[in-house]
Amino acid sequence: MRALAIFGGTFDPIHLGHLCVVWEASELLDAPVLMMPSGMPPHRPPPIASAPQRLAMLQVALRGQSRLSLDARELVRSGPSYTVDTLVELRAEHGDRPLVLLLGADAFAGLPGWHGWRGLFELVHIGVLSRPGEQASLPDELQQEIGNRWVANPAALQSVPAGRLVALSVTSLEISATRIRELLAAGREPRYQLPAGLFDQPELLAPYRLPAPK
Ligand code: ATP
Repeated sequence: MRALAIFGGTFDPIHLGHLCVVWEASELLDAPVLMMPSGMPPHRPPPIASAPQRLAMLQVALRGQSRLSLDARELVRSGPSYTVDTLVELRAEHGDRPLVLLLGADAFAGLPGWHGWRGLFELVHIGVLSRPGEQASLPDELQQEIGNRWVANPAALQSVPAGRLVALSVTSLEISATRIRELLAAGREPRYQLPAGLFDQPELLAPYRLPAPK
């Protein structure tokens, strides 16, 4: 059965960095992708935009294609969004289908901070997306857990349900939601870092704008 990939994030807001790399990862893996916005991310401050606002931005961003689809389950679950809980659910739903968790290189290096991270390879493969500025060095405990899981060819993920690790070389785009929020708060219009549709509905980006001084 063809693999299914999962790309989680705060998406506060979704930007062209996310979309470009996840699209390329989907092509390299020959797998459709579930875009999974996190509800209450346990590792970082709460998002600026509300869950419905982030969902609305994703819906606009994903319009007109079928390779990337939206899965909003973490937004309706109460309590912190633990990825491992979501992956247990997905594994139960998909049986032996290969599942691939996509992580940017920064998120992958931070894996040992995640709740239940050592169990992840029982549930899924991991695809690591290159990201500008990220070092190749990984924490020791992550290196130990990885062992000999690395495979060079993404096609090797199609033959078993979970447990392998692949580096996906995707176009480098130095775009981050942090920088976009800063630009929007400063009254700027980072038009070519965000999906064009977000500018057609000004209310979508309103949460990031600072109120005009009186
Ligand atoms: P923030 O700046 O608020 O931390 P972000 O731009 O890193 O946000 P997230 O929603 O936190 O975006 O990231 C979701 C996933 O997308 C993470 O795995 C992250 O590593 C990856 N990612 C985000 N931007 C890029 C990019 N430009 N290139 C590669 N991966 C990216």
